[in-house]
Amino acid sequence: MGTIICQSCNKTIDVFEGEKVTTLYAKGSSCEHCKTTQAKK
Ligand SMILES: [Zn+2]
Repeated sequence: MGTIICQSCNKTIDVFEGEKVTTLYAKGSSCEHCKTTQAKK
């Protein structure tokens, strides 16, 4: 199983099927929480 992590807050935002245990950072996108925070300029 693989996990996709928000690069801003390091929280797991998504998981996907896979033979290996993989951790990926979500490039160019953040979790809903960080999107909301970044939207406030
Ligand atoms: Zn986040």
